[in-house]
Amino acid sequence: MGAFDYYKYYTGKAADLLDLSEGERIKLTTPDRVLKADLTIPLDAGGTATFPAYRVQFNNARGPYKGGIRFHTSADEDEVMALSAMMAIKCAVVDIPFGGGKGGVNVDTKKLSQKEIHEVARAYVRAFGEHFGPDVDVPAPDMYTNPEIMAVMLDEYETLTGTKAPAFITGKPLDKGGSVGRDTATADGAIAVLKALLNDRHVSAHTLRAAIQGAGNAGAQAAKLLCDMGTKVVAMSDSKGTLAGDEVDVAKVCDIKEKGGSVCDDISCGGQNARILSPEAVIEEEAEILVPAALEDQIRKDNVDRVKAGIVLEIANGPTTPEADDILAAQGVAVVPDVLANAGGVTVSYFEWLQNKSGETWTKDQVSDRLSDTMQEAYRDVADFALDRGVSLREAAYALALLRILGK
Ligand code: NAD
Repeated sequence: MGAFDYYKYYTGKAADLLDLSEGERIKLTTPDRVLKADLTIPLDAGGTATFPAYRVQFNNARGPYKGGIRFHTSADEDEVMALSAMMAIKCAVVDIPFGGGKGGVNVDTKKLSQKEIHEVARAYVRAFGEHFGPDVDVPAPDMYTNPEIMAVMLDEYETLTGTKAPAFITGKPLDKGGSVGRDTATADGAIAVLKALLNDRHVSAHTLRAAIQGAGNAGAQAAKLLCDMGTKVVAMSDSKGTLAGDEVDVAKVCDIKEKGGSVCDDISCGGQNARILSPEAVIEEEAEILVPAALEDQIRKDNVDRVKAGIVLEIANGPTTPEADDILAAQGVAVVPDVLANAGGVTVSYFEWLQNKSGETWTKDQVSDRLSDTMQEAYRDVADFALDRGVSLREAAYALALLRILGK
């Protein structure tokens, strides 16, 4: 299944639940606009290079198109379209007034200098600039793009339009109008949802163990927050392997990661019974909570029976295949779907956009409190819908989002 097939599968299931018409189903699976361009940039060594670029504006029924721009060799029309559709769902689940968009350039940034990467960023804005705007389509960072690249894109946009328009793009550096809290927003939002779910089930976080796949931006912050709430982290993984043990020293492991090392570099960080295992082993560790925070397609038909956790918190996009998802649902595992669990990032992007439009600067506490409220309210809506209809949290999240997009 391609990425867009996953989207169609889940949307189709929710459409059946809601008994939507054929016309509504077509509207929900057809992008408003697929923009394509070839970006040609000058190379430091002389000559030029050309890279295919995309911007998909999927749906703006609820507000401006919103979604990141990735610079990666996997970026193609299918991937960017699927991600843009997911953005529309995600924004609707957390009930922020944005639609869905996504962008990509098929480029290997590791082969370019910083100057050449900036040329790609400027060329992207020149190619699609007329379709962007604070009230039209608002981009953000994604894989292999970052606040610095957002600042370059903003500069190109403001030069092109002759305006001051910080709300054109989010994920900017703080001194260019970025928001505090954006760097940790995804994990902060996911943990706020997890707390609401545990509260709902009258389960104390102190009695639980967690296994976390991925120790990057999102995974490392999630691990720290889980420790803060008293949950024991018993496994953490990265592309090199899994560190498992009775209690992982998260602070030490994150320190090693920040210095460019691996979670497996110091086995003593695993505590009692420390072990170094394969990267995939993290999925089957004995823990009540499993947090996939790395890659897509990690929980599949062939390994789902080895998942021990009763709660799966999907911080990564698409970590569970639809077949595995059905099996987990049948077993009563609470899968907090990506479209809810990782929506904290776009929520704080919305806060950044609001601050830029109003000229306000929010404090860390203001951002953190509003994020927590937004995520907990979204969880409440989804959980109530799931209970009411007897469906999984994923089906409920999609169904709720479709109703909101259709204005029903
Ligand atoms: P990142 O690049 O900072 O970290 C990714 C981590 O995954 C790294 O630690 C890497 O070593 C690890 N990894 C790679 N291959 C692995 C493997 N085979 N097994 C275990 N770990 C492996 O990325 P991130 O920003 O933390 O994002 C992680 C996931 O969360 C992605 O799916 C991303 O799309 C999703 N997400 C992130 C954000 C955000 O704001 N950061 C927002 C929404 C969704």
